[in-house]
Amino acid sequence: MKYRSILNNNELVSFSDALFQGLAQDGSLFVPNKIPSYNLKKNYVTYHDLAKDIIYPFVKENINHNELEKICEESFNFKVPLKKIDDKIYILELFHGPTLAFKDFAARFLARSFSILNQNKLTILVATSGDTGGAVANGFSGVEGINVVILYPSKRVTEIQELQLTRVQKNVKSIEVNGTFDDCQKLVKMAFSDKKLRNNINLTSANSINIGRLIPQITYYVWAKKKLENLGEPTFCVPSGNLGNLTGGILAKLSGVKIKRFLATTNSNDSLVRYLKNGNFKIESTIKTISNAMDVGDPSNLERIKFLYNFNLNNIKKDLKSTSVNDAKTIKMIKKIKKDYNYTVCPHTAVGLANIENKKWKNSPVIYLATAHPLKFKNIIEPIIEEKIKLPSSIKSLYKKKKKSISMNPSYENFKNFLLTNF
Ligand SMILES: *Cc1c(COP(=O)(O)O)cnc(C)c1O
Repeated sequence: MKYRSILNNNELVSFSDALFQGLAQDGSLFVPNKIPSYNLKKNYVTYHDLAKDIIYPFVKENINHNELEKICEESFNFKVPLKKIDDKIYILELFHGPTLAFKDFAARFLARSFSILNQNKLTILVATSGDTGGAVANGFSGVEGINVVILYPSKRVTEIQELQLTRVQKNVKSIEVNGTFDDCQKLVKMAFSDKKLRNNINLTSANSINIGRLIPQITYYVWAKKKLENLGEPTFCVPSGNLGNLTGGILAKLSGVKIKRFLATTNSNDSLVRYLKNGNFKIESTIKTISNAMDVGDPSNLERIKFLYNFNLNNIKKDLKSTSVNDAKTIKMIKKIKKDYNYTVCPHTAVGLANIENKKWKNSPVIYLATAHPLKFKNIIEPIIEEKIKLPSSIKSLYKKKKKSISMNPSYENFKNFLLTNF
């Protein structure tokens, strides 16, 4: 299968080229040129076995079956439980990877794909508001021939996120930027558009514009659907920010997996809700919320979703509903889910679960994606549920390691010098 840019189909590239280029020549995002159908068995015992059969058509030009089997075994080496909490209400826990958020699926797959396809020394730049950086640092840690530079905004990530960003191996360098996430992103963008720098250093990106992040996110939708095979078409409820997670689900549906619809729930950053009203939305500046990994004002994967539906808003609306939930309601839901089901959720998952009161959806099973472990946001959650959350041992051990980070003001000169002296 080939990949094309959203804007034109003159230039078809392989999976490997799309992965290393990140963005297409014309500046738009890569999308699959054709939606494949999968050749799936009726039952799968292991997650990685199913993942391999789903991903194979997307990568087979560059990665053979045995190689992909190994990549999937190593990437998806944690459990993916589907928990029933009420009649027709299920929670798909996507947070059992090493950094306790669903971004591990993408980051671990991406790291191993880069590693197997990489010919030269490679430096990966990533700006993070919290979760992506940790997942990427962990996913690439110790991967031969690949250096990773992560920029995160000082004092704007949670305690656990910072632990995961700064207790890292030699090939990962964390830069603590005295500024905001937007400052971090700006430095990364400037480095990418600096031709001179790029002649010296082989740079690529692990941000969610990369198609390699999207493909592994198809797999858990199919996994969950297969677990409920006899219960009819499920609705998936996806707490959404940059819409990468949602795009994975849409790719599953368009390739023939029987899914009824998607409910994408946003926090107060509600561009998607406004877009679905009339096909247009004004980009607002980002609003800071307690579900910070979804604080996205201008979600880049919306272009991919439009493309997948031939830019037809009515068709998008048939498959996709969206609502927005503010912090007050999010807090109420965290309390309610704890009280009604004795189940603790992170703020992102709670934004999705705000739909739980919506009786309209309950003709079919509803699967809520739980995107992060509540522990990752313990400073927010513990006062709300008035209880301590237990630390998993993987996190306990991070506290014993020494912090490794480089503090930097958001100046491009500094950043460029850092890159040129280190790589
Ligand atoms: C990144 C993230 C999201 C949002 O996912 P998108 O793919 O950007 O829509 C939701 N929850 C958590 C915990 C995240 O880290």
